[in-house]
Amino acid sequence: MNCEQCGKPLPARYGKGRPAHYCSDSCKQAAYRKRKASRMTKNRPHDLDADAFASMADGRFIDVLRVVRDRLMAVFMAEDTPATAIAPISRSLVDVAKQIDDIHAAEDAAAGEIAAAMKDTAEDAGEFNMNDI
Ligand SMILES: [Zn+2]
Repeated sequence: MNCEQCGKPLPARYGKGRPAHYCSDSCKQAAYRKRKASRMTKNRPHDLDADAFASMADGRFIDVLRVVRDRLMAVFMAEDTPATAIAPISRSLVDVAKQIDDIHAAEDAAAGEIAAAMKDTAEDAGEFNMNDI
């Protein structure tokens, strides 16, 4: 099996679970961004701008990430989890936490832009009313 993103041979997997499609988290994320971008150009409604649409897509993605994080945390905390599994689980946990953090940071940036745009609009409206009177 080779990575679906960069074509490099996939590293051996520990344990069971779904077979890996990507060699690294960065390839997984690149593939996700590529899929999301192609979805956006295909299905993007005209009355939504790119940022609003991206934050909606991320909204669903972050729900998945939270479920994954909670499941990982449950396994991580379970007493019967073998010691050899702790390192890979903690790496996955850190990775999921980082992805959740990145989405929060992107949302904060988007919220800041929206707030600034609303402030501009309010100021324009204020000027307009003053001139109108
Ligand atoms: Zn790869």
